[in-house]
Parts: sequence; structure tokens; C-alpha cells
Amino acid sequence: MSWLDRFARPKVRGLFRKDDIPHDLWEKCPNCEQMIFHRELENNQRVCPHCDHHLRLDANKRLSYMFDDGEFQTIELPEVTNDPLRFRDRKRYADRLKDARSNAHQDAVIVAHGTIGGNPVVVAAFDFSFLGGSMGVAVGEALLNGARLAVLQDSSFIVVPASGGARMQEGTLSLMQMARTTIAVDELKEAHLPYIVVLTHPTTGGVTASFAMLGDIAIAEPGAVIGFAGARVIEDTIREKLPEGFQRAEHLLEHGMIDMVVRRHDLRDTLAKTISLLRNTAAPAQVVELARAETPAP
Ligand SMILES: [Zn+2]
Repeated sequence: MSWLDRFARPKVRGLFRKDDIPHDLWEKCPNCEQMIFHRELENNQRVCPHCDHHLRLDANKRLSYMFDDGEFQTIELPEVTNDPLRFRDRKRYADRLKDARSNAHQDAVIVAHGTIGGNPVVVAAFDFSFLGGSMGVAVGEALLNGARLAVLQDSSFIVVPASGGARMQEGTLSLMQMARTTIAVDELKEAHLPYIVVLTHPTTGGVTASFAMLGDIAIAEPGAVIGFAGARVIEDTIREKLPEGFQRAEHLLEHGMIDMVVRRHDLRDTLAKTISLLRNTAAPAQVVELARAETPAP
């Protein structure tokens, strides 16, 4: 080690000690890599002011941006058997659950009710930070309960998925949730209530293959990846280069898979308008008699 390393470097390093900068004041946009001031990002609903990239949102914030005046009531969800298969990979599934619960919620979905544009609504929002928003028995239970609450309250039901798919630690039980959540959607349809999905980044796997693609109206956030298998797997299987923007919300809109791509700032208004139209709560317009044109007798 030279004298320069021994004496000069530690001093130079000391000048730029990372600890001097509070870590939570700035966040780097994963798309354009610009540093954004934390408060500016929060004030902009976590949308990058430089490139309009929609950053990940936790379920509670998501709900507060969606409901009128940010007011909503969450419902308590029934408890399910933890770790039914006593699954273990590098870590025990029971421990993974415990860790996830210590800094978030009971499981990957929160169900809340309130109003959007004055319309009664039940919303089930996913939290990707909880084991990748994966769908196990608890998530299936949450969606079933959300749908039943909507029927009970004569409300519309909105689901906001952000999920990597089925929860592999629950094996077949997680795959069974695809059928259960489809039944939940059916119960709404039988009650003639609107079911809307707001697809956020990412919506993949068993979630896409069940309730996420069954909405009466399918809305997506800009740039969200929505698909069943990952792009790399498909590319390797069909041995073809996939087009630019494959599985992105805009690509899906172009190909008729979804109905709208809506910016986060416009989501509440769009939902309010859509629900009003579907439930016909507001009179379309005043009916005005048109003056009949005099037609000459033949
Ligand atoms: Zn950006």
C-alpha cells in the first residue's frame, strides 16, 4: 500500500461520506435515473416529473389517491392457515410471512370501501412489497370477501393488481385461487355490478390468467408490464425477437387486450365517469324535442 493510499484516500473518502446525505430525501427514477426530491415525488403521486414514469405505490397510498378526499375504510380479512404445506426453500415460508408482515400488512391485498365520484365502491389493492404481491389462499380469500362486500353494499368492485403471479410456496393451493377469484367475479356479474380492473406494474402469471383479465373495463397504468409468461421465456420458446414494448400497457391497448391506458393523476376521474356510466346514476342529459323538418308531400 503506498503512502497515498494510506493517508490521502481515507481523507478524500471522508469528504464524501455517504452518511452525510439522508437516504430518504432523494429517490432515483428507475427509468430516466434522475434524482427526484422525495417530497416532489410524493406530491406528484409518485410519478417521475422528468419522464412521467409511474413508480411503484404501496397499497395504502394507492387507496388514498383513488377514493374521494383520500378517505376509505379497510375491512378485516378472515385469517387463513399459515404455511399449509410447511414449505421451505432457502428459508422457511413461515419466516418469510413473518418478515413480510412485520413491515406491511397481513397479506398482499388490502380491501377497502368508500366512494369514488360519489359512487359507492369496494377496492382491493395489491401490495407488491408483500412477497411480490403473490396470490396465495389469503389473497383469494380477500378478493372473494371484497366481491361479497360489494354485492352486500350494492357497490362497484375495483381490483388493482401488482403481482408476480401465484404464490409458489403454497403449491396447488395457490393455483386453486385462480378458480376462486373467477367465482368472485361471477358473483358480481350475477348481481349486475360493475367489475373494473386497474392493471399496474407488474401484472403477471396466475393473476393475469384469472381475475385480472375478467374486468368489464380493463384500465392500465402507463408502461405497466402485463402478461402471463415473461418476455424472455416466450422469446426462448418461439425463438423470435419480440417487438419493442412487448407486454407493455400501450402495446396491449393497440392490440385490443385492454380498454384504456390512464395516467395516475386522471385515474379517479376516469373511474368516477366509468362507474357513473355503467350504473347510470346520473341522467345522461335533458331530453329536448327536436323540431321536425317539414318534408314536402310526395
Ligand atoms: Zn424518470
